[in-house]
Amino acid sequence: RVVVLGSVNMDLVTTTSHLPAPGETVLGGSFSTIPGGKGANQAIAAARAGGTVAFIGAVGDDHFGAALGEALLGAGVNVEQLRHTAGASGIAAIVVDEQAENTIVVVPGANGGVLGLTDADRDVVRGADILLCQLEIPISAVISAAGVAAAADVPVLLNPSPARDLPSDLLDAVTVLVVNEGEAAAIGDDALRSVPHLVITLGRSGARYRGPGTSFEVSAPQVVAIDTTGAGDAFTGALAVAWAAGLDPRAALQRACVAGALATTTPGAGVSAPESDRIDDLVRT
Ligand code: ADP
Repeated sequence: RVVVLGSVNMDLVTTTSHLPAPGETVLGGSFSTIPGGKGANQAIAAARAGGTVAFIGAVGDDHFGAALGEALLGAGVNVEQLRHTAGASGIAAIVVDEQAENTIVVVPGANGGVLGLTDADRDVVRGADILLCQLEIPISAVISAAGVAAAADVPVLLNPSPARDLPSDLLDAVTVLVVNEGEAAAIGDDALRSVPHLVITLGRSGARYRGPGTSFEVSAPQVVAIDTTGAGDAFTGALAVAWAAGLDPRAALQRACVAGALATTTPGAGVSAPESDRIDDLVRT
């Protein structure tokens, strides 16, 4: 099974004709609350891609926390390790204008309190086929989980987003590093070279792999892309499932590229990752 350690937010999305300037009040068109956060998005993407998925993270004891827990559960994600801590859930306040320009304020809330693992979390990580992490929770928790996984020979897939310097004790535990081109540039060649398997996503061009003794590119299927938000999360979730299932890197990247491409064909915010039968259909053609 795929164990995801990461963030979960409620995205509070408003649309307006133009973004308000400082001090300005504008009339909005719509408002919606949509589950988000890279951890939750990738967990749901992995579940849709056919994985058995457990999520480790935290929400607050507010009504967003209850709704986020239900959203994960509704997507088939195991939430036994989801903590409901005192205080506010993580949120992202998003304003989008007619040109699709946006402003975003992220308040980590309960995500900021995920500083390490409980004993039960450790057992779940040790029993995983793969551990999937991002960097939207304190890095101390990611380092600790990656260490537990590596010590138990559980592969660690890290999507270092938002990009930052990666401490060597984290890099040493990583099996597969998944970055887009911006993250690759921010993280630097030395860090990229130090991991056994490196995957760089290339947008519409697909993805590049570099591993023991080999490197290659896999193309993404041509699709009519409507909204590329969520493509990276769909890619990463599907890659984790394929890797956990023991697919070779080329086959795993092919499934991930199909999942990422399909995610761009769905408009709007929120999880746009495809179900496994849709991935199967396009991988076969
Ligand atoms: P991110 O969204 O994290 O910046 P990318 O833009 O590289 O990452 O997209 C992730 C993956 O989604 C790509 O590797 C590709 O498989 C797929 N993808 C993204 N944009 C397109 C597109 N326009 N057409 C087809 N596939 C796409």
